[in-house]
Amino acid sequence: MLIFRQLFDATSSTYSYLLGDSESRESILIDSVYEQTDRDLKLLVELNLTLVCLLETHVHADHVTGASVLQRHTGCAIALSRMSGAENATRYLEHGEGIVFGRRSLEARATPGHTSGCMTYVLDNKEMAFTGDCLLIRGCGRTDFQQGDPRVLYHSVHQQIFSLPESCLIYPGHDYRGFTVSNVEEEKTANPRLGGGQSENDFIELMNNLRLDYPKRIDIAMPANLKLGKQDS
Ligand code: FE
Repeated sequence: MLIFRQLFDATSSTYSYLLGDSESRESILIDSVYEQTDRDLKLLVELNLTLVCLLETHVHADHVTGASVLQRHTGCAIALSRMSGAENATRYLEHGEGIVFGRRSLEARATPGHTSGCMTYVLDNKEMAFTGDCLLIRGCGRTDFQQGDPRVLYHSVHQQIFSLPESCLIYPGHDYRGFTVSNVEEEKTANPRLGGGQSENDFIELMNNLRLDYPKRIDIAMPANLKLGKQDS
């Protein structure tokens, strides 16, 4: 059986996801937040889970990862895309690789466009996809910094996420409006940026004219996350 918990950091509106295999008690945590590591460590103990791997969907600009803290406490591996440019990972993932926890696994799919090192993690039975900031519920990650590219994002979503079964649940890296989960069918039809047959050119035009504010914590978060939260000693 799959053990599954969706966790939220209210300050950065970030979701973290804990997935565990009930038999072996091995687990994976996707996208941790530095300020929430005590919560996450306590939950692992309460659920009697061994953290085998901390997975990052990408190098975040809005919060510092708890990856190094969790590794120090649990000895877990840290894995993210080879294209991320981050130091200190135990494993650098390529498109199509699997991340195993007990009898279950996730497949890493390269979904660049928000950053060049973005990955979507798809559960073995294709019932769940963890899309990071590539595809959000009724939205998508911004493409105006961190090697962002709207054309690349458009193709990532269409080729790697919209090709999944319609019922596949979409769990994003953030939500700012109170949504927790969506599915492929819903986003294909109702996503105002990428669904409903929105063309590549319309999407690029829209993304290039968003005029978003410079992210508040980027100057702290990016350098810290490129080291996976490891502090110089
Ligand atoms: Fe992001």
